[in-house]
Amino acid sequence: MRAAVLEAHGEPLSIEEVDAPDPAPDGAVVEVEACGVCRSDWHGWQGDWGWLGLETQPGQILGHEPAGRVVAVGDEVEEVDEGDHVAIPFNLGDGTCPRCQRGHSNICENVMPLGFIETVQGAFAEQVHVPVADHNLVELPDGVSSVDMAGLGCRFMTSFHALAHRADVGGGDWISIHGCGGIGLSAVHIADALGANVVAVDLKDEKLEKARDLGAVETVNAEDIEDVPGEIKAITNGGSNVSMDALGIATTCQNSVASLDAHGQHIQVGLTTQDEQGMVSLPTDAMVMQEIEFIGSLGMPPTRYDEIFRMVSTGKLEPEKVVSETIELGDVADKLEAMTDFETVGIPVIDTF
Ligand SMILES: [Zn+2]
Ligand SMILES: [Zn+2]
Repeated sequence: MRAAVLEAHGEPLSIEEVDAPDPAPDGAVVEVEACGVCRSDWHGWQGDWGWLGLETQPGQILGHEPAGRVVAVGDEVEEVDEGDHVAIPFNLGDGTCPRCQRGHSNICENVMPLGFIETVQGAFAEQVHVPVADHNLVELPDGVSSVDMAGLGCRFMTSFHALAHRADVGGGDWISIHGCGGIGLSAVHIADALGANVVAVDLKDEKLEKARDLGAVETVNAEDIEDVPGEIKAITNGGSNVSMDALGIATTCQNSVASLDAHGQHIQVGLTTQDEQGMVSLPTDAMVMQEIEFIGSLGMPPTRYDEIFRMVSTGKLEPEKVVSETIELGDVADKLEAMTDFETVGIPVIDTF
């Protein structure tokens, strides 16, 4: 099968013929119909996240936002059948640890991050193998295409879990979203659908325009405005109730915390780069004095996908609006390159393999 293979960190991915996967006894093989290209792939391509134990090695196939059709299942698989139209969460769980048993397989004790480790090759390929298929695969409802679904995962799912489950977002709350890449734009759209007033922050006007299209009531261009938290406090008359760092650099994290009103919730979704290596300094005394919460959020447990599907079926959420373009497998190296300078708007989705 054709696959985009990592040869060396930062070097263009190589399109190669590789062996198609066979299903493990508990696994399934999915023919990939669509797969989003995400900043996490960019991090994997750069060789980041060694501090998380996730430094990719040569030979890795990236790609963690796939949807497609099941073409083979292992002997022990009971609930998944050939022909099923499925989505694949990016943080695969073992289905048996205490966290998975409690419904939190997005933070499984033995989490298998799709496309980041040798034993779980990703979906920049014609086919992808999914371990523990009964637990991990999510059947798509009628009317949700693979491209729609690739737009939904992982960034849309991640933003939904952060805003709907981890933070306490209420109607009329002010929410600031720092960074309007795929996660940030998804968060703008979701926060708007949940009834909040969204202030979107980015360095690029075209991303802020897209944020307005998706429901932001105010935007702040951080290139033009030095004191971003001050600007947000002025717009919101005191500060945001919830604020998200959707990028994961020190500036966006610190600006997000500093944008909050008393009792505000900062939600950290972006993972950091080589500059921070997971460490960002924060104004802890001010956070104590104002009883500010700092919340981490990762992906979304597959058991809760139905909540999004219900909002999609009634038109409250339109994930396809965040999909910027469809591309072919051979274009993925260029897309990753463009992400270095933050030149992609929205979510590019591969639909031709
Ligand atoms: Zn992703
Ligand atoms: Zn688990």
